Amino acid sequence: MRMTVVGSGDAFGSGGRFQTCIALASDQASPPRVLLDCGATSLTALRHQEIETNSVDAVVLSHLHGDNFGGLPFLVLDGQFRRRTRDLIVVGPPGTQNRLEQTMEALYPGSSTVQRRFDVRIVEHLDRQTVEVDGLRVTPFEVRHASSDREGVAAR
Ligand SMILES: [Zn+2]
Repeated sequence: MRMTVVGSGDAFGSGGRFQTCIALASDQASPPRVLLDCGATSLTALRHQEIETNSVDAVVLSHLHGDNFGGLPFLVLDGQFRRRTRDLIVVGPPGTQNRLEQTMEALYPGSSTVQRRFDVRIVEHLDRQTVEVDGLRVTPFEVRHASSDREGVAAR
């Protein structure tokens, strides 16, 4: 497995770093297929690292703060305008489906209901219940982190 740190910054761009986004590939030669978090700056950061966004099969969200989740609407719209055909799986905490729709509508009204060539399939995870996504086993654990959602998540 190859891990690329696409972003490791906080919500405020401290140190000039992009927000949280870790790209995982199955081996050295393959493009990344899974993103761990997708902060608001992540689409720019993925372009900066020349990572093909349409090859991303899944995004695993730790929680729904903007610096961990805010890039997802842009990733979806990027797929729409770049003729993506592969479905995008999003694994996130309870409320992910509603939050994605609300955020997309706030940013680009009508964008959450557009017909695309691919589906965005949301898998909402539950505390300590392992989810398998694209060959990756993700087990969320509730942590203390102030969020409007019930939980933050650490994955292993
Ligand atoms: Zn947070």
